[in-house]
Amino acid sequence: MKALPTLLAALDDTRLTFRCRAALEAHQARLAHGHLRWVAAHSPAVAARFRAAGLPLSRWRELPPTDKAQMLATFDTLNTVGVTLEQALATARRAEQTREFTPPLLTPRGPVTVGLSTGTSGTQGVFLVSPEEQARWAGTVLRALLPGGLRGLTRRHRVAFFLRADSPLYRSVGSQRLTFRFFDLLRPLPDLVQEVTAYRPTLVVGPPAVLRAVQDAGAALRPDRVVSVAEVLEDDDARRLHAWGPVVQVYQATEGLLALPCEHGELHLTEAHVHFDLEAVGGGLVRPVITDLRRRAQPFVRHRLDDLLRLKDAPCPCGRAARRVAAVVGRQDDALRLPGPGGPVTVWPDFLRGALAGVPDLRDYRAEQTSEGALRLLLEPCTPETAAAATAAVRAALARSGADPAQVTLRASTLPPPVPGTKRRRVTRSWRPAAEEIL
Ligand SMILES: [Zn+2]
Repeated sequence: MKALPTLLAALDDTRLTFRCRAALEAHQARLAHGHLRWVAAHSPAVAARFRAAGLPLSRWRELPPTDKAQMLATFDTLNTVGVTLEQALATARRAEQTREFTPPLLTPRGPVTVGLSTGTSGTQGVFLVSPEEQARWAGTVLRALLPGGLRGLTRRHRVAFFLRADSPLYRSVGSQRLTFRFFDLLRPLPDLVQEVTAYRPTLVVGPPAVLRAVQDAGAALRPDRVVSVAEVLEDDDARRLHAWGPVVQVYQATEGLLALPCEHGELHLTEAHVHFDLEAVGGGLVRPVITDLRRRAQPFVRHRLDDLLRLKDAPCPCGRAARRVAAVVGRQDDALRLPGPGGPVTVWPDFLRGALAGVPDLRDYRAEQTSEGALRLLLEPCTPETAAAATAAVRAALARSGADPAQVTLRASTLPPPVPGTKRRRVTRSWRPAAEEIL
């Protein structure tokens, strides 16, 4: 098993920090050339897509994008390790139920780790990762997260991960200089607080809602960095968590590690490893179509994500050529479809989050579109004042987004307590138009 050398190589790979856009693109083209030849030779599903489009591998950027549903439909011939979707799902679900350390799935091509994405709506994603891919992942993340990169390892680091389900992905490393401890989100909060306080982590990693809950329960930590994963990091969470230390965000999805923070705390796309085509969807937002230039166990070639991003145009003071993400706005599934003067309009979750974040005394909220013209606002606390201010703020945001507030009913009520272990999404749409249900 070559995991440790791979990890150390990724941790130490200064060649992957590009300061010149042309050099970064040349690096991607070089990787794509070798990677796609290998993938097309080993993944019948990818080869079939090129054949169906009548394209040679060199014109991969013109390949029609695929999505999660299509990925799952072709899973058995897409992955290059001979695993069926049924086997992968059974392994991942068994691990989640028993809460045991996920045993690797043994395949004709060696062991792979199986993971499930924790989507709250739509299709659950499944991913396969080889030990070498895990090691590269861990090295790449650590390189970005440990202050000083490899030099940061000259002293001992203790990493505390707060996660929904244990995953060997996050346990890839353990050495004298670097220890990992996993904190299971389904355990009682006071236990977690006591244990993490005694551990004195130098790096705390977890979903922001969970870290906030641990903080509110009394954990006073002094890590070098607080790392937000798995959920959109909202401004108010970032401000509160800052009491522990500098807060940075990692943007990761089932589809891979997509953006990492630089030393200025800015989120850069992982363009040294993943190629991003960005489709404009209006409102200054883009939807990425990714081609992972390294992953072989489960290739992602011209794969369209559900996430919407807002990018920053200006160059970053760190000098990296990789593009910057201003915000991960949310899933397209969650974009609201509300009545407008000339028919339905799309209202992005970002607009409502912006409106509700400014409501005085409002500690937390959810907004959910429950029917064609109805929005439910769940508020904490729900007082006559917060309800009135939240309703007014949402109406103003709807008007700014081109919807017709007069055709939208708003109902405010009290936000129920969070369900442990579930992923938080503040703006969602549970209603689907008939046309969408057919799809
Ligand atoms: Zn930067």
